[in-house]
Parts: sequence; C-alpha cells; structure tokens
Amino acid sequence: MDSGQVFQTPLLVGGELSFAPKRSMLLRLIRAAQPITRTDIADRLKIDKSTVTEVVRPLIDRGILRETVLETGTPGRRPRALSFGAEGDYFVGVNLGVRHTQVGVTSLSGEISHDDEFETPTSATRALQVVRGKISDIVRERPNMTLQMVGVSVPGMADAASRELVYAPNLNWRNVPIAETIQQVVKAGVVVENDSTAAAMFESRMKIGETADGSASNFILIRSGTGIGVGLVIGGEVYRGTGAGRGVAGEFGHMTIVAGGKPCVCGNRGCWERYASASSASSLYFGDRPLRPGETLPRFVDIVSKAENGDIRSRRTLEKIGDYLGIGIANVIMGTGVPRVIISGRLVYAWQFIAEPLNAAVRRSIVGKVEGWSVEAGSPSGSALGGALEVAVEGFLSNV
Ligand SMILES: [Zn+2]
Repeated sequence: MDSGQVFQTPLLVGGELSFAPKRSMLLRLIRAAQPITRTDIADRLKIDKSTVTEVVRPLIDRGILRETVLETGTPGRRPRALSFGAEGDYFVGVNLGVRHTQVGVTSLSGEISHDDEFETPTSATRALQVVRGKISDIVRERPNMTLQMVGVSVPGMADAASRELVYAPNLNWRNVPIAETIQQVVKAGVVVENDSTAAAMFESRMKIGETADGSASNFILIRSGTGIGVGLVIGGEVYRGTGAGRGVAGEFGHMTIVAGGKPCVCGNRGCWERYASASSASSLYFGDRPLRPGETLPRFVDIVSKAENGDIRSRRTLEKIGDYLGIGIANVIMGTGVPRVIISGRLVYAWQFIAEPLNAAVRRSIVGKVEGWSVEAGSPSGSALGGALEVAVEGFLSNV
C-alpha cells in the first residue's frame, strides 16, 4: 500500500466513492500503540500532523484522550504522547457462541477486567435472559462507572442497522432482537455484529500495532470454529454488503465446495464449513461414520495434542482440513481480490499441521499463479471475547 492510501482510499463500497479520512484507523492505532506521539501517528499512517490534531483535539477536550509527557531519559527532550483516559467508562462484550458464550468488560486503555463463560442455552430467549442477568450484575458491581456500549458478536448474519441477529444456522435462531432485549435492562447503546467481522476488527487493531504502516488496511479474516465465517476489511473498514445483501458478505462458510456432499445445517449440501471447520475435524477423524454406543467425538484441541504427540491419524485429519481450507481460501481470494488472509479461531492451534497443505491448495489455484498472496495465523482470542469487546469500543468511538 502506498502513502496516502490509508486516508485517501477511493472506495466504491456502498455504491459511492468515498475519500473520507479514516478516523477509525487513527483511533485504532492509538489504542494499539498507546502512549504514542502525534509525530509517530503521522509517520506511521503517512498523514499530516495537522490531520492528527484535527481528529484528536475534540477527544482530548472531552477527556476521552489525554496527552502526557513521555519520560525519555534524554535531557531537554520531553515529547508528549496520546493515550486513552476516561477511566470511569467501561464496555461490555458478549460473544454468543454456538456452544459457549463469553461475557467480559474492558476499558479504552484495553485491559480486560472481567471474563465469564457459560454454555449457550439452545433457546434464544433463554440465552438472552442469561446475558441480561450477567450484564445487570456487571452494572451493579460498578456503581461509580459508566457503561458506554455493549458489543455482541453472533455466529451468523447480523443486521448492524436494526441490531438484530438475522439468521444463525448452527443455532437455528432467526430474527432475534438482541439490542432491543438487552436495552430493556441497560441504558447504554448495543451493537450487534457477525463474529467473523468482530474478529476482523480485533485483528485489524493487532496488525496496526505490529506494522509500521497502513498495511493492515486490506485483509480477509477466516474464522473457523464450529462453522466457518469470513470477515472482510477493505480500506481499513469492515465490509458487510449492500442493500438486501447487508450482513450476507462473508457467508463463505456455506459456499458449496463438494457437489452433493455432506448435508449442512443450512439445508444445502457440501458447504465449506462441513469440510474445513475445526468441528468438522472431529467427524473426519472418525471417518465420518456414525458413533458407536459409548463413543464420543474428540474435541479439536484433543486432535491437535494427539498430532503433536505423533499420532498419524490426527495429523492426516488436520492435513485434510488444511487442504479443504486452502481450496476455499483460493475461492475467497478470487471472489474478493483481497490477497492477504488471516486465520482466526481454534484452527490457529493446529497451524503447524494445516499451513503446508493449505498453502499447497492455494498454489494449485489460479490465485497461486499471482505474486503477493499470503495466509497467516492470527490470534485465537479475537474469535472469542476479544472481538465482541472490539465491537463495543469501536461502536463507541465511531459515534463520539
Ligand atoms: Zn451450509
């Protein structure tokens, strides 16, 4: 990515050209690298220092950002650096998973001060009851603090505008009014986001903290756990689709990869997530046969630890998952034209076994004939609570 693109990306997303400054990217960099000087921000994003000042000044005035003198140890040189203040504000993240749900609390400075997990009830009504109870407890325990935003990540299609879960195939939930239900017990805003998009937001901040430029602006995030989801970050912003397709972007887990293949919870056959998700490894390990009485499917982490101990069947299973993953990834790169891929979720634990067959599958495709594609392992935590907390904080910062 060349200079200026970070703030001047001509995006044809949403049907209109946008040259708006990526304020969110600047704030993300401060969160990732705080305390950081205005000069550092300007250098890393290749923008004017005056642009930095323009964005940060209103936030300093409101006490959300603060500027402190950095102790460099060098006489005479006392640069000032920006970091997030507002210690009285906090954010709640809820990662509604197919099997487990995590609830946590964070602040603008980034530390996680509460982390709770429970089994997701099969009924959406019951699940939201439990979530509401957990959030009410969190609010009650913090009488002198302000809950600014609740972020909820869901394993399916989310409508960011109406803030509800549209369809989660693995839970068989449809049209769940998540924000409305939570707001019956809290005054704060509630943002609902697809879990892969949430993980992509999380990785976006991780990568911007690691890299010295805007190279974290465009990537595809593949989140593989019970299912497979894809988050798209284009020009530093997540992409959700347009018009009636809003929320559908990234539903690659249900693209058909084997004609007439294994049946999927969505009603179709041969979906990608039936072949390349972490949970598909368990049935693949057993050769896709019905379980005998008393037999239980091994957990993904168990297959990984067996593979680490040299078990051939576990290794072959993970290599096969890597192969299917690579086939799908090549399709996703072809469809989006975004050549950088980050893997998130439980599959990261098996990276040493899946990386080679995965890359080989991409190399076989037309994508492999083009220079510059890459697939790398991200963080497992972005797929869980980290993503939901990111949704809450980003939701707050985009509106202040
Ligand atoms: Zn499907």
